[in-house]
Amino acid sequence: MCNQEATAMVFQEIEKPFNSQTVKFPVLKKGEVLIQITYATICTSDLHTYYGRRKSHAPSVLGHEVIGIVVDIAQGGVRDYVGEQLQLNDLVTWSVYAHDHDGKMAQKGFPQKSEDLFKYGHEKVNGEDILSGGFATHCHLRAGTDIFRIPEGISHKEATPLNCTHATIAGAIRLAGELIHKNVLVIGAGMLGISACAMSKYAGADQVFSMDINPDRVENTLHFGSDLGLDAQLSLEEIRQLTQPLGGIDVLIDTSGSAEAMEKGLSILNIGGISIWVGAVYTQRNLSISAEYIVRNLLSIKGLHNYMPEDLAYAIQFIRETNKIYPFESLVSKDYPLAQLDEAFDSANSEEKYRVGIKPI
Ligand SMILES: [Zn+2]
Repeated sequence: MCNQEATAMVFQEIEKPFNSQTVKFPVLKKGEVLIQITYATICTSDLHTYYGRRKSHAPSVLGHEVIGIVVDIAQGGVRDYVGEQLQLNDLVTWSVYAHDHDGKMAQKGFPQKSEDLFKYGHEKVNGEDILSGGFATHCHLRAGTDIFRIPEGISHKEATPLNCTHATIAGAIRLAGELIHKNVLVIGAGMLGISACAMSKYAGADQVFSMDINPDRVENTLHFGSDLGLDAQLSLEEIRQLTQPLGGIDVLIDTSGSAEAMEKGLSILNIGGISIWVGAVYTQRNLSISAEYIVRNLLSIKGLHNYMPEDLAYAIQFIRETNKIYPFESLVSKDYPLAQLDEAFDSANSEEKYRVGIKPI
């Protein structure tokens, strides 16, 4: 298959047009797979990179919320996450990183922080080796990538955000522990927040509350499992008055990354409450927290960055079992062809869409 060609849109500089580059298909090494990308979505972190809101490698091929079909498999075959041999034409998603499964960090339970991590959509391109991101016709999966077949009954718009949005929230839900008989507050009503509302309900939460500064976004969470939407401008006392009669807040999932929201959230948690922070992936001011308050109220704070492969497995099960209940397809707006990636980024950034789709073929 080496004489065939792939195209990738290379990110060169902040807010500069993407540069289309064509390369020959790679010769696969042991454990590697070549994917023909069928759909990708622009994640908020792609926007942070493109608009210079965080430091990233360049040149690089962005895009990590992505699905595609297997078009080449290294000699000797490659197994998927559940141990079955991958076949040509399998429709798959994969963990956003490849890592050494026997490495020290993986054995300690933190594969996403492995020493040799290769992160799709984030790597600096190296000569002809450009097929490392989702905004391309093909993606070259490295050995050590956890690959998952996408079950039937999940559309491409539902499946594409699985390996970032939904898997990250599955990680947050794992850290929160048992949700039965517990109430959850989700702060931030973007894509992650919507996933957190629906997944909290799926995981058995009693009441789910959602909070954001944007009333339209709060309203939309009510279609995704939230029982009560809250305006982020409400005072602590007003939030207490609304949530206490329903049992208060046991678990908080912050997807906003707002220091004020995380401080506020800690002071309204019930005794024994857990606060999971997911959104704070950019530089911000330090938080003001009373250690005595944390100790006396038996509170826990847990941070989550990326996720474990098992979280992606849980996310796939979640979407398969809830995509008839919640309108996940509605979160992805119109499709753009790969050649119009510049326009797609403009649209994703300026109109505050949840997700914009890229259809390379
Ligand atoms: Zn992402």
